[in-house]
Amino acid sequence: MNPGRILTGLRIDVLGAGVVGAAIAFGLRQLGAEVRIKALLRLGDPGIQARPDFASAYAAALIMPHSVAADTGPLFAISQDVFLRLAAQKAAGVRIQTHFELWEDDRPDPWYAAWTKDRRPLGAQSDPSPPLRPGAATLNGFVCTAAFVDMELYRPWLDGQLAKSAIPVERVALRDAPAAVSACDVLVNALGIGAEAVFNDVGDSHLLRGVLLRFPTPEEWRGRHGAPLSYNYAAINADGAPGGDVYFYPRARSLVLGGLREPGRLNAQGDFVGDGVILPTTLVQGVKLPIAMIDLNRVLVRQLTARDLPPLAAAEVDVGYRFLLGRTGHPQKKLGWSADGARFDALGFGGAGVTLSWGAAAEAMAQIAARHQRGRFALAEMGELLAAGLLDAPIS
Ligand SMILES: Cc1cc2nc3c(=O)[nH]c(=O)nc-3n(C[C@H](O)[C@H](O)[C@H](O)COP(=O)(O)OP(=O)(O)OC[C@H]3O[C@@H](n4cnc5c(N)ncnc54)[C@H](O)[C@@H]3O)c2cc1C
Repeated sequence: MNPGRILTGLRIDVLGAGVVGAAIAFGLRQLGAEVRIKALLRLGDPGIQARPDFASAYAAALIMPHSVAADTGPLFAISQDVFLRLAAQKAAGVRIQTHFELWEDDRPDPWYAAWTKDRRPLGAQSDPSPPLRPGAATLNGFVCTAAFVDMELYRPWLDGQLAKSAIPVERVALRDAPAAVSACDVLVNALGIGAEAVFNDVGDSHLLRGVLLRFPTPEEWRGRHGAPLSYNYAAINADGAPGGDVYFYPRARSLVLGGLREPGRLNAQGDFVGDGVILPTTLVQGVKLPIAMIDLNRVLVRQLTARDLPPLAAAEVDVGYRFLLGRTGHPQKKLGWSADGARFDALGFGGAGVTLSWGAAAEAMAQIAARHQRGRFALAEMGELLAAGLLDAPIS
């Protein structure tokens, strides 16, 4: 059967228009379903940075599964492949770059290392030198080729793909399950942090508060070798205690510094109640963040780019919440049918919702097609369909 007709006639409501809901809606439409989105906020909305509960407004966004459940490798592989191919589509704001994953202690490689592209040890002659904190006793890690998503460009581009695919978006604030459930054959729940207020069976969850320092720049910052690059760097103090886990991601018109993952929850008023930040902190424009996010990044960025960070007063400070299921320190995600079988959940992508979005779409496509007995499909096959659709290639 023509893949574009697999789900013809199936009416699907996708709740949520963040990176996950938008990718799933696009994928199901590619299979021919009649897709409609219901959501309060859209990726193309102006001013969304003022809403920390809309995680997609905050993603940095490197395509690497940081701060997420460790069973997401296959989703990462599909998504990474789609993003690497999307780099050919200039308007999408995706590029391919050298990325360093670095740490000073002797921890093993992270679980996702094996899924990265072109992973190689530090020190290859063809790679730029990794940044090194002065005083660091050792440096461990690896270099890889990563996709990087410039969210300032990608958000409106992805939002535009919905219109291009004739997916209507109904702007609505859902209050409870009855309001969310409507006349459709399949309900997809991609409400992110908002899912808990609508459905009462979401289960344990927690947040990781993040802060980004965003410096507007007239042009993209590049490494000394002339090409864009990025790092994640975990330092340790002389006593072996954590000294900051920071990152640097340059975009076309800004550069982003990060380095905070504070566990916590929202209270009944919707305010964040955190477990505290273990590192020494400072206030920047009234927002508490680890000093290392500024001081350590300043040193590392200078080494990589031969440039000094702009003055702090020029920074915009964005606060966002990464939403995870399960208990703190034991992250889980849900990508499948709810226990009562009434809906398909796509939730809990923590610090990696952009990274996993196309993999999540592929999984939703395969599972929904299987349930409606329209066929059995491998994730990779769905990934191919997504890439073809996004690159406007004809589907054979
Ligand atoms: C500081 C920070 C840095 C990050 N960096 C990265 C990174 O480098 N790479 C990466 O892959 N990921 C990163 N992430 C994670 C990423 O941003 C999230 O995982 C992802 O955006 C989650 O997308 P989502 O679509 O599931 O949810 P959301 O983006 O939160 O979207 C939820 C949608 O549901 C709608 N909604 C919710 N409740 C209701 C309701 N009651 N009624 C109607 N609509 C509702 C919202 O309006 C929205 O449309 C980062 C996150 C933060 C906070």
